[in-house]
Amino acid sequence: MKVLVVGSTALDSIRTPRRAEERLLGGSASYAAVAASCFAPVRLVGVVGEDFPRRYLALYRRRRIDLEGLQQAAGRTFHWSGEYEVNLNRRRTLTTELGVFADFTPTLPAAWRGTPYVLLANIAPALQHHVLDQMERPRWVVADTMDLWLNTALPELLRLLRRIDAIVLNDSEACQLSGVDNVILAARRLHRLGPRHVIVKKGEHGAIASTPDGCFVCPAYPLASVADPTGAGDSFVGGMMGYLAGKGGAPGRHLRQAMVYGSVIASFCCEGFGLSAIARLARPRIEARATGLRRMARF
Ligand code: AMP
Repeated sequence: MKVLVVGSTALDSIRTPRRAEERLLGGSASYAAVAASCFAPVRLVGVVGEDFPRRYLALYRRRRIDLEGLQQAAGRTFHWSGEYEVNLNRRRTLTTELGVFADFTPTLPAAWRGTPYVLLANIAPALQHHVLDQMERPRWVVADTMDLWLNTALPELLRLLRRIDAIVLNDSEACQLSGVDNVILAARRLHRLGPRHVIVKKGEHGAIASTPDGCFVCPAYPLASVADPTGAGDSFVGGMMGYLAGKGGAPGRHLRQAMVYGSVIASFCCEGFGLSAIARLARPRIEARATGLRRMARF
């Protein structure tokens, strides 16, 4: 089954202690869509400007991502730049230039309104609402978010929580949003705000899901070397959604496996710079790493 992904489609300038690259393909929707495309057909909703390189459109197409919902507008593409410290868990955002995202209103192609799986990747909650307003009874809606929206768009984010099946956020965001400093308690409080499934990402320590079937502790794949963690969270949720859509059926039944596959895709993401590693990922390498992760986590 198909997945609709909406989020930022960006040019990223990334600097790590070892390497710096300008205007790479990035954005939450790009990472999530490429990750999801490992498992299911993807429909991408976003906007790019006149400066968006054609080779990046070609990259989406190589992943068989449907671009009918990707608008091209007059102006510049969303540009984000960030710098990592020697400890790659620490990142500083240098610039966020909205460009064409400032006036973006996502309008879905009519045929996309019935897409069963909807991933609201990180973007302003007002845009996430706008996409949901156009959907006709989706089977499973997952939203990702970031601290910026907790600080600048809290009422819209709280309203969104009542419209989705699952929220995915990192541990500090879960604590901020719930007002408690323990992630298990935070998840319980977030359930009361709406979503039946709360997935808390803990970076290199994996993720925890709190669901009607109980808690699941999802390991991260241990890596000996990380090139660039940008987009790991987006790849995790994209891989998870792609896996659920690929399986079909009741999403709750496959959620644990889906999280493990999301974790595997996120690990590949961290090994490459920008999107480079997941852009050429094929199923056999994913399966091999998923098998390895199962072995390492079994007891
Ligand atoms: P992550 O490493 O998971 O935080 O995601 C990094 C991606 O988020 C980059 O590709 C950025 O282009 C994108 N990004 C950064 N800031 C924003 C924002 N305010 N809204 C949407 N996407 C953003």
